[in-house]
Amino acid sequence: MSGLMAGKRGLIMGLANDKSLAWGIAQKLHEQGAEMAFSYQGEALKKRVGPLAEKVGSDFLIECDVSDMDAMDRAFGELESRWGKLDFLVHAIGFSDKNELRGKYVDTSLDNFLMTMNISAYSLVAAAKRAAPLMSEGGSIVTLTYYGAEKVVPHYNVMGVAKAALETSVQYLANDLGPDNIRVNAISAGPIKTLAASGIGDFRYILKWNELNAPLRRNVTIDDVGGAGLYLCSDLSSGVTGETHHVDAGYHVVGMKQEDAPDI
Ligand code: NAD
Repeated sequence: MSGLMAGKRGLIMGLANDKSLAWGIAQKLHEQGAEMAFSYQGEALKKRVGPLAEKVGSDFLIECDVSDMDAMDRAFGELESRWGKLDFLVHAIGFSDKNELRGKYVDTSLDNFLMTMNISAYSLVAAAKRAAPLMSEGGSIVTLTYYGAEKVVPHYNVMGVAKAALETSVQYLANDLGPDNIRVNAISAGPIKTLAASGIGDFRYILKWNELNAPLRRNVTIDDVGGAGLYLCSDLSSGVTGETHHVDAGYHVVGMKQEDAPDI
């Protein structure tokens, strides 16, 4: 197959269904000839991930709960034994107790703080550590973050703190792995209705606010995110690392409500 990604192999972590940001990225990578493996959390998700993987020509499914380091070892072990090398890794994983994605950040429990940090931030570090030895010819690691890391977004709470840790991890990982020509970047996506997003309190209000106030006056789609994912996974971005790239219809540059935005 020809295309930007011809001959490149990568792991997609965090595909849940056809609304997932990971699906937007996987489709763009497939269009450009990438070969992909998909990791999933638990049997229930396997039933959904399997048919989607098939649509993009893959039968390589790997079970991996990213909070279980033995499962991470097994997942990257499977990649090594089947492929021997890896060119890219897409990390599209986040999780928190939805009861704490409403109300106030000050009420975050220690247990949920640690779990959210573990699954949403540390898992990138754990995945990068295991992916790097397989990226013997260089590689690209891409994760997904959100503006709630930079500014307070009501209800995003502990997830915002975890995304701040994730974005800083991108910088430290980029520095650690750069000498091996492994690039590490994040896409800061605008709000999109997905399974994970449905856990965030008043998410519909966030969507509407962004649509009315972003410079492009619309919300982004998983296609928009997919295009940026393709750019960051491919050699088109060969000089880019340690970056948080906003794909949010420009929302992050706006400091106040737009004059033409109605009250909501
Ligand atoms: P999604 O629900 O489709 O994907 C979240 C994925 O995380 C699921 O596949 C789920 O199985 C996986 N996951 C959760 N805990 C896990 C664990 N312990 N082990 C393995 N996998 C686990 O939702 P999404 O919105 O596509 O989320 C993907 C990424 O994009 C997340 O990091 C999210 O924070 C980020 N993001 C989403 C938005 C948005 O508005 N939807 C905006 C910016 C960033």
